[in-house]
Amino acid sequence: MSQDGAEWTATRVRTLHDDLVDLYGPVETTEAHGADPDRDPAEGVRQLLTTILSQNVADQNTARASENLFDTYADFAAIEAAEVAELAEVIRVAGLPETKATRIQRALSAIREETGGAYSLAFLDAMPTAEAKAWLTDIKGIGPKTASVVLNFHFGKPTMAVDTHVERVSKRFGLVPESASNARAHDVLDSVVPDELTYPLHVLLIEHGRTHCSARNPDCDNPVCAAYCDCEGC
Ligand code: SF4
Repeated sequence: MSQDGAEWTATRVRTLHDDLVDLYGPVETTEAHGADPDRDPAEGVRQLLTTILSQNVADQNTARASENLFDTYADFAAIEAAEVAELAEVIRVAGLPETKATRIQRALSAIREETGGAYSLAFLDAMPTAEAKAWLTDIKGIGPKTASVVLNFHFGKPTMAVDTHVERVSKRFGLVPESASNARAHDVLDSVVPDELTYPLHVLLIEHGRTHCSARNPDCDNPVCAAYCDCEGC
């Protein structure tokens, strides 16, 4: 197994993708995924706020917090202007409520200042991916995963979101060095994964992490692992 990801080429990543598809089936992209010039510009902002809410919490709590947030406030201006303590109460189910309330207001403020008043992330669409990612991660509390979720899922830009499953499986396959930080894992995967596979491979690696490659007691008896993993202990 490679310790630095050096043996992984775009061709081998494509083969891995195809082998994962054989195991789990093809990844469908929905109308909500990728760039769409007709889409409401507010959707990108909603995606960003929901992704902030999702940091370090289960999906169902994210959904409840997001629903509370958008049901409670009439618009983004009201969210930005709310008392932090009040906003924190509204999103409390997502955990880290004060921290996330502050991040949300900081993000809305940055967007409004960038656009001159509009709550829209449409300007990111015209930016190269690295520039768009840098704009988002310059906002304190927005890391590479949150930025990549917004840019990849909403704008269809080629950057891979590396959650805990993607990071663990990528390291066990030798796609990413074992010692890499999450930020480094993003950079490594963005450099080796072909653009068109950033979204489907993200989904498939999560599926593999959930189905076979759990953090403890992985079930290693599957054809993909027979071909790609020789990590110690499995
Ligand atoms: S062989 Fe086991 S530990 Fe290695 S990636 Fe597969 S499930 Fe995970």
